[in-house]
Parts: sequence; C-alpha cells; structure tokens
Amino acid sequence: MSDRTESDFCGSLLVGEVISGKPRAALVRGAKWNPGDRIEVCFLDGVPSVQERVKTFAKEWTALGLANLRFVFRRKPAATPIRISFKYQGHWSAIGKECLASPFTDATQPTMNFGGFDEETPDEMMRAVVLHEFGHALGLTHEHMSPAAGIHWNEEQVYADLSGPPNHWSREIIRKNIFEVREDTNYTEFDPSSIMLYRIKKSWNFDGLEVGWNNDLSPTDRAFIRQQYP
Ligand SMILES: [Zn+2]
Repeated sequence: MSDRTESDFCGSLLVGEVISGKPRAALVRGAKWNPGDRIEVCFLDGVPSVQERVKTFAKEWTALGLANLRFVFRRKPAATPIRISFKYQGHWSAIGKECLASPFTDATQPTMNFGGFDEETPDEMMRAVVLHEFGHALGLTHEHMSPAAGIHWNEEQVYADLSGPPNHWSREIIRKNIFEVREDTNYTEFDPSSIMLYRIKKSWNFDGLEVGWNNDLSPTDRAFIRQQYP
C-alpha cells in the first residue's frame, strides 16, 4: 500500500525470509491458544466507531472455515487477555498467549496498539493493519523468524533506515525484530502475499528480495490458521 510508511511496522516483528527461494509463515508453538478457545478482548481507550471497525476486521480471522477461536469483545476496559489501545506509538501486538505473561501482566496497559487510528483512517489501511496485528495475537510471527530463515540482511542499511524517522528504533530493537531467529515455531508452505509479510526494501538484503505491502489474508494464511486451529 503506497500510503503506508515505516511507522506501520509493528513493534513485535518485521517482514519475511526466503528458504530455498520460498518464504514461509511461522506460528510460535508456546504462544498458541487451544482450538475452540474463547478469547476476551477489550478497548482501553478510543472512540466507539473506530473500535467497531477494529472488531469487524479482527473477526475475519475467526470466520467460518478459518481459526476455530472466538474473540469476545467486552464493552468496557477490563482485565481481558487482549487489551487494545490507540494511544501509543506504532502498531504492535503481543504474540498469542504471550499477552498473559510479563511484560503484559498490568491490566491497565495494552497488549495491542493501533497508534493514530481515528475516524479519518481509511478502511483499507485499517483492515490490513488489524488483520496483521490480530495475526500476531493468534500466535503468528513474521517469516524471517523461522529456524530456516535465509535472508542475507544488509544489516547496516536496515539499521540506518529504521533508526531514523519515523521509527527511531534502537539497534537492539532492530536486531530483535528483524535479525533474530526463533527456533520454536510451526510453519507451513507460504506465499509472498501473506498479511504477515511486511515490506522489505531491496536495499535491505543481498538476495534481491523485494516485498511490497499486502492488504488481505492470502489463501495460505487462511489454510494455515485453519490447520493450526482446527
Ligand atoms: Zn507484525
């Protein structure tokens, strides 16, 4: 999506990897919910019309034939596992059940944030970001977190781009969000149109990989989440 910027990179992770020329998606095993779980969600702030839109887009993941989970939205702020705010900077979310543990144990604090979303935010952009962050809430990470990750990062270029505006990330955050590999994931065949892929600039790697913004759940996203939550 051309009107999105680096500030859309969520704080948890970033972007994709290539394994033998093929990117893959990954789900953190220890962060996985149980199929059939009813997961309570509340909003800590924000206006009702924007909250309603977030709710509608989030529920696409649990539509018939997708994840066998249920998001139950409470009317008022509460000590629910998922707590959404619009007040903080950036778009980010806890990964799956990691929202139940440190550093998310303070029920007055969010586990998911949509910085800057308001009545003016276009539906297409809001939907893409909500689907992506709720993908994290279901336990999904980004492609490069797979143990078999194969991107040859141009680390200095990534550091240079993301330590500047609008992200202003520290080297530690960039390392943790982009270069780190998690060993504890399930993954499956994937396609480059996944909602869990973020833009990768060509200058960020030595593999010639370039990925633009994706706006929708791909057929593989749908099949994978169904397989993980049957
Ligand atoms: Zn993300």
